[in-house]
Order: sequence, then structure tokens, then C-alpha cells
Amino acid sequence: MLDNQAIVKVAVPRRVWDSYDYSVPSDTTIPRIGARVSVPLGRGRAVGIVIGYSEESKYELKDILNVVDESPFLSEDLVELGSWMSEYYHHPLGSVFETILPRQAINGMPAKAEPEQIWRLSSSKDSQEIKANATRQRQAYEAIRDRGEILESELKQFGITKSTLKALEEKQLIVKSDVELVLEVTPSPYTLTDEQEQAVGAIKSSLNRYESFLVDGITGSGKTEVYLQVIEQVLRQGRQALLLVPEIALTPQMTARFQERFSSMVIVHSMISNAKRFETWTKAALGDIPIVVGTRSAIFTPFRDLGIIVVDEEHDHSYKQIESLRYSARDLAIMRANKLDIPCVLGSATPSLESVVNARRGRYRYLRLSRRPGAAKLPSFHIQDMRQREIKGGICLPLLQRIEHHLDQDGQVLVLINRRGHSTKYFCQHCGWMAECDDCDVALTWHEAPARSLQCHVCGRRYQPISTCPACGEKGIAMLGVGTQQVEEALAEAFPNVPHYRIDRDSIRTNRQMTDMFRKLQDSHEGLLIGTQMLAKGHHFPNVTLVAVIAADMGFLSTDFRGPERTAQLIVQVAGRAGRAQKPGEVWIQTYDPDNVDLQSLVRDGYEGFTDTELKIRADSRFPPFGQIAVIRAEGTDENAAEEFCTEVLDQLRPSDVSVLGPVSAPIRRVAKQYRFQGVVLAQSRKQLHSALRLVERMRPKSRKTRWSIDVDPSDLT
Ligand code: ADP
Ligand code: ZN
Ligand code: ZN
Repeated sequence: MLDNQAIVKVAVPRRVWDSYDYSVPSDTTIPRIGARVSVPLGRGRAVGIVIGYSEESKYELKDILNVVDESPFLSEDLVELGSWMSEYYHHPLGSVFETILPRQAINGMPAKAEPEQIWRLSSSKDSQEIKANATRQRQAYEAIRDRGEILESELKQFGITKSTLKALEEKQLIVKSDVELVLEVTPSPYTLTDEQEQAVGAIKSSLNRYESFLVDGITGSGKTEVYLQVIEQVLRQGRQALLLVPEIALTPQMTARFQERFSSMVIVHSMISNAKRFETWTKAALGDIPIVVGTRSAIFTPFRDLGIIVVDEEHDHSYKQIESLRYSARDLAIMRANKLDIPCVLGSATPSLESVVNARRGRYRYLRLSRRPGAAKLPSFHIQDMRQREIKGGICLPLLQRIEHHLDQDGQVLVLINRRGHSTKYFCQHCGWMAECDDCDVALTWHEAPARSLQCHVCGRRYQPISTCPACGEKGIAMLGVGTQQVEEALAEAFPNVPHYRIDRDSIRTNRQMTDMFRKLQDSHEGLLIGTQMLAKGHHFPNVTLVAVIAADMGFLSTDFRGPERTAQLIVQVAGRAGRAQKPGEVWIQTYDPDNVDLQSLVRDGYEGFTDTELKIRADSRFPPFGQIAVIRAEGTDENAAEEFCTEVLDQLRPSDVSVLGPVSAPIRRVAKQYRFQGVVLAQSRKQLHSALRLVERMRPKSRKTRWSIDVDPSDLT
């Protein structure tokens, strides 16, 4: 006989749509929601998460094999979030939990069950009690005496075991207690600006309830200081904080700033390896880690008592996962904060249009930081019309002269060109043949470095250079289109005595290399930096007085609805890295299309002006944030099968209350031998979009070569 709660619903981390029911044997304690259980599955077994209970089941049920966690492994809000994601992203429930859980958790690795212990000497006894030959005990005793108090995990690092500590405890020489988040805060070295004060005040006033904030603050306006002060308040209440950052490379600087401010007891964790992720998880769940700093997947960290979520650079695309479960960590942050009834702070110098509109509609409270503390000034923006100008290495003569002028004044110059390699086209002047990847429908890029070769920037495949055209046999190979290497070459030739640095994925592979280069730059007066969007992240270049933007028009003319937004964000972010010191800077954007409305408004009225212009364009097209959108993608080595399946899915959607565009080939039709097709689903409301997608989510292609996906709130249409 089963009693009421003896059937558990288990989400199994496999590609399955629904949870499975299992019975709990009568001699087993009923597992709690969020706990892991080991269950029979097919002919094998799996570790799954209990997500609910059931009164009865129409099936013959199998018993769970055992309960892995006594206390829940996933907090209840995460269990709910998982189910919500399955519905919202139209993704199998099992796969959602596969994404949420660290590898080790799925493998059934036991979680740390006790909170971190801290040891100190007891006042009553002295060390006479330790036997002369008990060296270990003496060592432990002395370590604790010398430090006053010490974490058990630290003692472990000295090779001191639990049993040694136990022996000392039994002799009443030492006592332990749970770690409390005793905060030692180094006071902020700054007096907050009025704007910072207002932002901090607004967020602090709603600490114990849900509210979302958009901190729209120019680069260097002190957003991080706002996060620090608000988080301090949360920690003082004994609660925990989660800070999401876009890229691992940024984390060391961010973590350092947090560590400087809070005592060493407060461990800030950034999650890099899988093993680290598991450890961080279990500790945060016990409340042993007050602040977790992490990238996208850190949004799934369980906490004992989370008090705030901060999403830095909320516009960054890395928050959106672009394969498998296509979630947005930024959007999940809002969801999760809402479920937990805590505030969520989104910050950016170039907020996404979605967030701008949410703020305008009053869904987020808008907090503006419009000035930099102290005297640091923002650079001014200008357009350089390059039509009918002489051009060298992608740079037109007037701009080259301007570069020279800044170098002469001991200023450093930063040149942004968002293409790596030397030349973007490699072709035959004689017959027009162009080098393309065998596996992808894209032109190959010519590289001088790291090795002279042709490279496919989509799949990474490399090809040897050729001297005669494979189509006509003539010796007429030529190149077109500039990349970072060509710009570097031209500038090195024009300014042979100025040190120059190229910053792209070919030249900088580690954060270390970036830091080294940065140090060299700081020590020198003049200098030329040539780089891709890597320049827009993290590092600041205080001696840069001129930012030259090459070939940016392409982004404004992009067919992707987010192309202009990304371009404007890139330019503004890079511009913000420059001229932090007292030297005012200039930004020159070189273009063949000086009348472009987006470019014009960006230069005239800054990012805010751009936002207004671009929002009008989006409103007319009913694209987000003025309509709801999803992309259906199908791909496979069998071109016809992929296209047919895409058509089939879209045809199922057409009768619904949505507009369906497509199928069309993806902008790059073939990638790594896979033919790609896509369709866009546009709806007026979320509800319409989701009820339509529900009709197709479980469809299966006939051909096993075809894979497909639904992408809700896509970050782009590629
Ligand atoms: P953001 O995160 O908006 O780019 P930061 O928080 O990094 O800005 O601040 C930019 C610089 O200004 C940092 O060097 C920071 O230490 C400093 N700063 C922040 N707030 C103040 C303040 N109120 N007074 C003086 N300097 C400040
Ligand atoms: Zn030819
Ligand atoms: Zn390729």
C-alpha cells in the first residue's frame, strides 16, 4: 500500500519531455523536493531530481533505488525555474535539468552536507593535555592558537584531519562553531556622487522584495561602486549575493575589487572548471559562500538565502546560450529574483533595447549615472567620410593624419577593426574565382599570422596559399577587404618608430598576455593599438586619446535586426575604454555611408539618441521589443531533408495567431557540411507565441540526419 506522498515525480537529465513517476519503498524516507534520487531507467540507472509528488499513477511503477541527498540539492526556486524554462524555451524538461546541473551532480557525487566549521581555542584548558608524542594534535593546536580562529577547510590544507580535531575537541582544548558571515568591510574610499547616492538609496530601499533596476551608467561612472555598496548591505543582513559577469576574462578584476572591499572570510567564487562549479554549488547552498561571481551558468547556483542578483553589462550577448537550451541568463535573473522576492540589478553603459523599453514602461526602475566621478571626460564623436579619399590599409588619408597628430602629442591611438586576419577576400583578378571553404559557404580569410594561410572563420579549417588560380590556371591572385593584420601592417609602415600592439584572438590567447600588453602600454607614452571587439571588454586604456573605428558601417547595414544595436554598443564600449585620465579623447568613425540614420544619431546624441532612432525602426517592423519572436532552425547534411522539415514545422505554425516568415537559407547557408534553414515566428503577445510553439515543440524529423531547434528571444538571426 502506498501512502499519499509515496510517488515522486523525477526529472531525469536526459532528452525526455516529461518527468517520470517512481514509487518510494516503505522503508525509505520520502525524498524532499530538489533532492537527487537514483532511479532505474531503461536497462540502466540515472540520477534525477525530485520535482514533485503524485497521489496516484496509472502505470506500474518502479521503486527509486536510493536517495542521494537528505537535504535538497536544488533549492525549490530552481526546481520551479527548471519547469518554467522547459515551457518557455520549448525544451525537454530532462534536458533542462541536464543543463542546470553540474556534471558531478548528474554523476551522483555526494554533496557537502555540513556547513563550514570554524575552530578556536576553548578558554578552560591548556595544551598540557596533549601527549608528547601526539605531534599532529600539537600542530593543529598551534595552528589554531596562532590564527585565533581558522576554517576547517584551511586546516585540511595543512594536512590536519577531522580525527585529530575530534581528539582535541574531546580534550576540551578547542571548540567549533558554524561559520557566520561575519563581515569586515573596508570602508569605501569614495564619497558617492549624487547620482551614485540616488542609485544606491533606491536599491537599498527595496532590498527585501522583488524589484528590477536598470542602472544605465556611462563607462567609468561608478556602476561597480554602486553594486559594491548595495551588496554590502545585503551581506550585512546575513544574506547572499550573486553577480553575473559576461566573460571569464573580466572576472579576476571584478573579484579582486570585491575581495579588497570585504574581509578575507568572504570568499568570492568564480566558476571556471566543472569541478569548481560543483564545489561552489554545494557551498553556496549551505550558505558558506556569501558572494558568487560567475558567468552565464552561475544563474543556476543554489543558495541558502539569496538576497540580490546583479547582472553587469546586461546587454552582453554572452548571457544568451546559443546552442541546445537557448536561455538568457539575464532574463532568468529577473525570473529568479521575482520568485525569490528579491531585487535584481541590471547594469550597462549601453543597455539592450529590451531593457530600455522595460524601463520606459515602468517594469524596471531606471537609474541613471550620466557623469564620471572627478574630472575624467567622455570622448567626443565624429564621422570621417571616406568616399573619394586615398586609402591605405583600410584607413583614409585624413584619418591617418589625425592619428599622426595624436601620436605627436604623446597620445595613444586605438584602432577598432572588427575583423581578424589580413584580407577578407582572396580571389583571382583574371576570372573572378574566390577562395571559399570546402565545408562552409563563406569566403576564406587570408592570414599572415600566426602562419601564412587561408582560414575559414566559421569552422576554423585552414588551407595552404596558392599561386595559380584553380579555376583558370592564371597567376592572378589578389586580395581585398581589411582585417586587423593589414591595418597593423599599414600603420607600422606609416609610423615605424611607434610601438604597436595587435589585439585579436590570433595574438592574444590568454588573459595573461592581455595583462602583459596592457602593462607595457601603461608605461609608454605613444603607442598604437589595433584590435577587434576584444578591446571593448574589461581593460581600460587611460592614455588613449583617439579611437578610430574602421569599417563599422557594415554593422549598421547588417540584415540582422540586432546588427545596428550591436554595432552601436561596440563603438560606445570601445570609446568608453579611452581617455579615462584627464586627457579628453576623440572618436572618429570612418564610413562610406555618412548619412546612415543610426550612425548620425549615435554621433549627434550618443547611445541614448541611437536608442531612440533604432527603437522607431524596431517598432515599425514589429521586431522585439515591440513583438515577440522565435526562430526555427533546421540543419543537416541532407539539404532537402533539412529544408523539408523546416517547411513542415513552419506550415504547422501558419494557422496560428502568429506571422511566419520562411523557410529561407540561413545567412551562412552551409556550415561544416551542414545545410541550414530557418524561419522566423513573430507574434503580438507572448501568449500567442507560446501557444503556437507548443503545437510543434515535440515534432521529430523523419531523417535522422536532420537536427532542429526552437530559439525563443533569439540574440540574432544567424
Ligand atoms: P563603471 O563600473 O561604471 O565602469 P567603476 O565603478 O569601475 O565604473 O568606476 C570607475 C572609476 O571611478 C574607478 O576607478 C572607481 O574606483 C572610481 N570611482 C567610482 N566611484 C567613485 C567616486 N564616488 N569618487 C571617486 N572615484 C570613484
Ligand atoms: Zn582565375
Ligand atoms: Zn569552414
